[in-house]
Amino acid sequence: MKIISINAGSSSLKFSLFNMDDESVIASGLFERIGIEGSGYTIKYNGEKVEQEVELVTHADAVRILLEKLIDLNIIGSLEEIDGVGHRLVHGKDKYSSSVVITDEVIADLENFKDFAPLHNPANILGIQAFREVLPDVLMVGVFDTAFHQTMEATSYLYPVPYSWYKDHGVRKYGFHGTSHRYIASTTAKLLNKENFRLISCHIGNGGSISAVLDGKCIDTSMGLTPLAGIMMGTRSGDVDPSIITYVMEKEGKNASEVIDDLNKRSGLLGLSEYSHDMRDVLARADEGDENCILARDKYVRSIVNYIGQYYLLLGGVDVIVFTAGVGENSIPIRQLVCEKLLPLGVKIDLDKNNIRGEITKISTAESKVEVYVIPTDEELMIARDTVSLIENR
Ligand code: ADP
Repeated sequence: MKIISINAGSSSLKFSLFNMDDESVIASGLFERIGIEGSGYTIKYNGEKVEQEVELVTHADAVRILLEKLIDLNIIGSLEEIDGVGHRLVHGKDKYSSSVVITDEVIADLENFKDFAPLHNPANILGIQAFREVLPDVLMVGVFDTAFHQTMEATSYLYPVPYSWYKDHGVRKYGFHGTSHRYIASTTAKLLNKENFRLISCHIGNGGSISAVLDGKCIDTSMGLTPLAGIMMGTRSGDVDPSIITYVMEKEGKNASEVIDDLNKRSGLLGLSEYSHDMRDVLARADEGDENCILARDKYVRSIVNYIGQYYLLLGGVDVIVFTAGVGENSIPIRQLVCEKLLPLGVKIDLDKNNIRGEITKISTAESKVEVYVIPTDEELMIARDTVSLIENR
């Protein structure tokens, strides 16, 4: 079975084409700057890479060219070979707790929920409509970033604010990166060959979130109503005292959205280091002794450790901690610094085993009370798996 996984952004469209018989990637790529000057695409397949600038006015142009290229490059023989298309959808509010076949109702909900993901939900709709135009008869599946977190109880998802904000306006924690945390939970279960264990899943990339997972179900997660909450990130602050917003509005003559924009785009590693949002840059300068970069690195580590400590108590202990995403998979020093601070929980890692990037590895020692793994995440594959499962159960 061949499945395309799609992640549509406001001006981009990422795809992976899978052969689901062995879950191998046949081709993958990116269409970018859609609707902007200088648009083009990159397609990788069979060890080759095709890059081309081409006018992409709409997402439908990108999809049309993608499908033409798949045939031109002999990646597929005909469009009939595509059995399904899975879309990454960002916000399903509390209506969607699992993946669904995309119908008009799902599209209307994405529109209705767009206040909660103003950049992402409209982009997701564009991606869906583009495929509907070009492949009208192929089954499409929606995989929500929020779905995995729907198992949280009210004590996790409610904020201690007027209850009417929740009842009337849906103000609650929804959580994000759910597809990644679910992939990590299911891959860990396969590795350990058991279903019942206490897991802390650390998805730390440019964006980042940490989830507490008990027996495969999410019981809490660090992001909130929006992806601004939780741990410190590349450019996002994570949790801060909300009174900062009105204080800075007054001091800098800004409105609320401008300050929220500062918290989203000019905070986190970038804000504290005054240098870069990229962990590699921050670590390199920290090694040279730059004080702001040392502070940014150490605050980042502290914010991750704080959540791990909180979730350790919530889960009543922890069996496994997993690091994933850009920083989690690749940053040897950040994993080491975080794990050193987890010594009171009985965490011990082997520095030689930790000396890896991007491969499934157990980095804890035999004596460690907690197993610690690095597991590369694969949201695209999870989307393709859900698509197969919904096709088979139709
Ligand atoms: P996104 O949230 O955009 O999906 P990623 O998961 O791709 O982000 O993570 C990107 C981040 O991963 C980069 O900003 C960079 O800080 C970090 N990263 C990637 N490789 C390394 C590395 N070798 N060492 C440290 N950090 C890395």
